[in-house]
Amino acid sequence: MKKPKYIFVVGGVMSGVGKGVTTSSIAYLLEARGFRVAPIKIDPYLNVDAGTMNPVEHGEVFVLRSGLECDQDMGNYERFLGRDLSNVNYMTGGMVYKTVIDRERALGYGGRCVEPVPHIPEEIIQRIKRAGEDVNAEVIITEIGGTLGEYQSMMFIEAARLLEIDNPGDVLFVLVSYLPVPHNLGEMKTKPTQYAVRTMNSYGVQPDIIIARGEFPLDQKRKEKIAASSGMKSEQVISAPDVESIYDVPLNFEKDRLGDTVLKLLKLKAKKSPDLREWKRFVGKVHDPKSTAKIAVVGKYFATGSFTLSDSYISVIEAAKYAAYHLGMKPELTWVDAEEFERDPKQVAKLSKYDGIIVPGGFGSRGVEGVITAIKFAREKKIPYLGLCYGMQLMVVEFARHVAGLIGANTIEVDKRTPHPVIAIMEEQREKVANGNYGGSMRLGDYPAKLRRGTLAYAAYRTDLIHERHRHRYEVNPAYIQKLTKAGLVFSGVSPDGRLMEIAELRASKHPFMLGSQFHPEFTARPLFPNPLFFAFMKTVKKCL
Ligand code: GLN
Repeated sequence: MKKPKYIFVVGGVMSGVGKGVTTSSIAYLLEARGFRVAPIKIDPYLNVDAGTMNPVEHGEVFVLRSGLECDQDMGNYERFLGRDLSNVNYMTGGMVYKTVIDRERALGYGGRCVEPVPHIPEEIIQRIKRAGEDVNAEVIITEIGGTLGEYQSMMFIEAARLLEIDNPGDVLFVLVSYLPVPHNLGEMKTKPTQYAVRTMNSYGVQPDIIIARGEFPLDQKRKEKIAASSGMKSEQVISAPDVESIYDVPLNFEKDRLGDTVLKLLKLKAKKSPDLREWKRFVGKVHDPKSTAKIAVVGKYFATGSFTLSDSYISVIEAAKYAAYHLGMKPELTWVDAEEFERDPKQVAKLSKYDGIIVPGGFGSRGVEGVITAIKFAREKKIPYLGLCYGMQLMVVEFARHVAGLIGANTIEVDKRTPHPVIAIMEEQREKVANGNYGGSMRLGDYPAKLRRGTLAYAAYRTDLIHERHRHRYEVNPAYIQKLTKAGLVFSGVSPDGRLMEIAELRASKHPFMLGSQFHPEFTARPLFPNPLFFAFMKTVKKCL
């Protein structure tokens, strides 16, 4: 194998300014030039994976095909690159430290003293190389989460520095920085970025490219100022102003010749001239919708403001967008707090102004009765409904209570003593929960489902067997399948052994589109290839507009 090139993307000044989108976009532009690229996301924290973190505080937990629970940026990578990634593409501080400590316990260091340096950076480097070898990558692009100067990211930058010493000229540092425009000054300030460069320098590394994020484009004068103070040419400073859609970013980068600059600095020659036509066609649809679809996303929401919520449900939002854009619509998503319907059930009537209702995944009992009230409303008023995981389970509960006549039906996640546990805990899960074994222990990742012909699900996927990603502990209780089916609920997707119900829906004669999936279809939605269930849902929304 030829030696790969390495790109490290780090963040300066503050977090949340788009390292993930920058990394995805650079990877996309390199792949468009014919290179095999391995993207890696590093989260320096000590959690071994992202599965145990609260999505309202830390953003969505994205699930890979393999079942690994990781950071939402992995979703960005998969969406921009249009392909599935694997465990080698994700690394946390916890994984690295755990491997080193486990190895020490197994006498893997032959009696030597095991120290943070060099053993932690060594393990990091091995993992980076493994991700490259996995796909025979020519370029490995690694995003180091967090912001420069944080103690926890130091080991990762040290690993990058060591790689550069061993591979001179083959390692590139991209600094994603932020240029504020204080209101009282009305002027873009470059100083924080200069400090970020100095912080990098103090770690022994130097940026080769600066992505200058800000509310506005960077003028030539400031480009030159940053370049001069950082020891680089002005073409190495890329202007990255706020954009309407993140999908504009690779096209803006291309305009600023970022792809070519990266290749030049890495001494690579493009294998083909980039063909961005399909991407541009998609972005064209993003900017030119013919109609608007008003969608209510009903769930338990804390008073966090929509900013955090859009981070917590990013895959759901993006999946809804792709389906809508491809149908010439713009989705307008509104977060509706289900607890409102618990306080005053009459409030549910306000859902009638929406063209469709989505109930996303969730855990615990908070807001559940309100969600069930909303689902009942969607069913009775024939508003297109899509339920994702918890949204499917609660759709089954609602149906059991109000159509199948199973009074007091519930999921045992909410009510252990319900007379009708229509959603119950999976056998293999019971023990795990009893032992307090919560990390990475749900039913996770890809599982197959057989689809029944003549159903909404089949019409959406047009195939007999599908694979989608899961993240749940509970499932439709087999003891109730017959009763529910008899009452008219259709299980249109079932695990190949017939045990697990994967999709539930109502007949077309009863409702234009009422469907819930035990899996999370949002994780496989891609800009150029919307997920079939979201697409079918949006198609009905469009028909009903
Ligand atoms: N709480 C439910 C379960 O564990 C649903 C999970 C989800 O929506 N991801 O089965």
